[in-house]
Order: sequence, then C-alpha cells, then structure tokens
Amino acid sequence: MSRIFNFNAGPAALPLEVLEEVQAELLDFADTGMSILEISHRSPAFEKVLEETKQDIAELLHLPEDYGIFFMAGGGSLQFSCVPYNFLTEGKTAAYADTGSFSDKAFQEAEKVGRAVKVFSSKAEGYDRVPRPEEVVLPENCAYLHITGNNTIEGTEYFAYPETNGVPLIADMSSEILSRPFPVEKFSLIYSGVQKNIGPAGAVLVIARRDFVAGRDKKLPVMMNYETMLEKDSLYNTPPVFAIYIVGKVAKWLKKQGGLEAMEAVNRKKAALLYGMLDRSPAFYKGRADKDSRSIMNVTFNLPTKELEAQFAEEGKRRGLGGLKGHRSVGGIRASIYNAMPLEGCEELAKFMEEFYQANK
Ligand SMILES: *Cc1c(COP(=O)(O)O)cnc(C)c1O
Repeated sequence: MSRIFNFNAGPAALPLEVLEEVQAELLDFADTGMSILEISHRSPAFEKVLEETKQDIAELLHLPEDYGIFFMAGGGSLQFSCVPYNFLTEGKTAAYADTGSFSDKAFQEAEKVGRAVKVFSSKAEGYDRVPRPEEVVLPENCAYLHITGNNTIEGTEYFAYPETNGVPLIADMSSEILSRPFPVEKFSLIYSGVQKNIGPAGAVLVIARRDFVAGRDKKLPVMMNYETMLEKDSLYNTPPVFAIYIVGKVAKWLKKQGGLEAMEAVNRKKAALLYGMLDRSPAFYKGRADKDSRSIMNVTFNLPTKELEAQFAEEGKRRGLGGLKGHRSVGGIRASIYNAMPLEGCEELAKFMEEFYQANK
C-alpha cells in the first residue's frame, strides 16, 4: 500500500488513524453484528454516535449553551438557499460580502428569495482579499450579513470578523471549520459542508443560536427549515449516517491532537512553510491572495506560464504530492492543507517547490 500526500480541496484527506479505525470496525460496529452502513439511524448505537459527535464538537469549539448543533444533507450549496428562505423576510435586506465564487453563488440564491445586496466585493481584483472589519457597512433593516469564512477556490480567509452591531452574522465555514479557535458567539448561524476539513462528502454541520432559528415560517419546505432540523435533532428523516460517524471520529482525533488551539499552531506552521516559498521567489511563485488575507487552509499561486503550472502539478504527482492543480475556474496551483495534512506533507511540498524553482527559474 502506498498513500500519497493528498492536497485535494474536497473531498479531501482524512486522518490515517481515522481511516484505520473505520476499517477495523467496518464489519461489526459496536457489537451490533452489522456495519455502520447497515444500521438504523434510530438505533441506540447510532444515537450514541450522534450524541458524542455533537458533544465533542461543542467541546472543541467551547460552544456556549444557547447554541445547537445539527446535521443536514444537500451540501454547502443547499445552505445557500436555506439561509435566505429561513431569514430573508419581507421588507428586509440581506447583506453579502462577496469574496469568492462560493459567496457569489450564495448571493445569487438569496436574490431569488428577496432583496439582497453586496456590501463588499473583491471580484474585480480577482478575489484577492476579504474585507477589513470596518469596510463592511450594512444597509437599513438588514436581515443578516453573510460571509464566507474561508474562500476555498481563491485561498483567502477571515482572521477578523465584521462588527454587525446586532445584525445576525451568518458564515459559510465549509473549508475552515475546526481548523482553529474562533469567537463562535459573534455568529448566529454557521454552516459547513464537512467534506473539506472534517469528513467525507454527504453531510453539512450547522451550528446555530437556538433563539435565532426559533419561530421559522411553517410554510418553509420542511427539509430546509432550520428550526425543524434542530428540534428533531438531525433525525427528522434519515440523516447521512456514515458521514456523521466519520465526523465523530475526526472530532475525537482533533481532541487527541490537543484541540483547536493545537491545530491552529500546526496549521499555521504548515501554511508558513508554503507562503515562505512564495515570498522567497515572488516572480516565479505568484501568490493569489493579499498577505493579510492569506488562507491557512488553501494556498493558491500561479507560475510564470500555464505550461509550467501543468508540469508542476504533474511532477508533484509523480513524487506523491497529489491534487495540486487549481480549481478549474481559476487555474494555477492550489495546495489544500486541511487538518489531516501532516506537517511532513508541507515540508515535502516546500522541498519540491524549491527544487522546481531551481530547475525552471
Ligand atoms: C465546497 C464549498 C461549498 C460547496 O459545497 P458543496 O458541498 O459542494 O455544495 C460551499 N462553500 C465553500 C466555502 C466551499 O468550500
């Protein structure tokens, strides 16, 4: 068996220990005589998985008591619609900070539901940064401000969040959730497709203030109603059992690593290795993100030519560094270095970058 260093953006690398555990208990999960793929979502064995997963995530986030955690299906993309359907009510305006193609998609879904405005956009500059907190000015009668915490395709990330003065702040944290501590209490609702940083495809983690999701319109499609999902504890219908089970294992693995404080330290170290290479040879490795907005999850850059970019991804692959090709919409190179990417993987990539630079500068 040979496993590569997997720099894919999502679905993405999972901790090897987690995969080994899954493999070991696949045929007989928790003495049920069945695999996790075959058990009822209403069985005590799964209830325990769900309960522990929520508890471990709450613990990792130091989540205040008045927040609830639940899982939904439909990917991050369904959340783009759920948010306005739940919260963009008559007479209100939704505010969006447009920092990448996923933010723009979220905005477009909101426009279908009601009045939505962009209060910031870095689109004209190729989405090179996120706003500084003071740059975001909200409209009158604002339903909520929606931000994308980490822009997976463009490689930018918020490290300081806008001040909303009581207007609910909603974030898509699909690609950075549980990578570092952050002030959860600033947010009314957070959603995160789990397949980037904490699990396989199939589930979305939602963290919401209970009073914020209470009192939703009964006419909402039930599968999009946050209040129902929270009240029914992710079990209104069959949830993505397997994905939740893996998230639970990843949460336990994160606790074992020392929690989010420890993850932040190693994630910053990993990112610094790669950004250090960009800063050493800025004419060859051209970073896409402004320095202040550099993501510690997705490192994006261009080489002098498309041919060199293709060669870089190809040679990397041959060395066991997979998934370096940038998103099809923007090209270039992207190294996704989520929680499960070991420091060693970034050291190998930095070494390769230096050699590639020396050979092709
Ligand atoms: C991947 C991603 C999405 C879309 O997720 P799907 O599960 O493919 O719908 C949305 N937002 C961000 C920030 C992402 O990284």
